[in-house]
Amino acid sequence: MAQCDECGCFDDNEAENIDYPEILGDDDEKQQEWLEDQEDYQPDRYYYWHGDIQEDYQMPAGYWCLCDECFGDFLNQGKIIEKYLDHFIGGFLVYTDKEPQKLNPKWNDEEMGWFMPLK
Ligand SMILES: [Zn+2]
Repeated sequence: MAQCDECGCFDDNEAENIDYPEILGDDDEKQQEWLEDQEDYQPDRYYYWHGDIQEDYQMPAGYWCLCDECFGDFLNQGKIIEKYLDHFIGGFLVYTDKEPQKLNPKWNDEEMGWFMPLK
């Protein structure tokens, strides 16, 4: 399941958990059509998570999950702290063969990379 805490968009995994309108019955095809009409259904976005492993980014307090668009917005606003400065560019993961090198001076490996509850 992935649903963005900021804009509410969601992917296919989350779609399995939603309640479809009763009128559609158990018709998979109709359910799929209905789903694709939902503005928040965004199966092609990438979703960033704070799960049970340490990530190399720190979302703002209170956020579990962000879609790539909201992640990029927060990143541009300086609300997300990245572990490496050469890992994300403009909110998107940069895939290269070499390991990221530039450690962000703001990064604290003891505390960051996990879900942070709102205080
Ligand atoms: Zn979003």
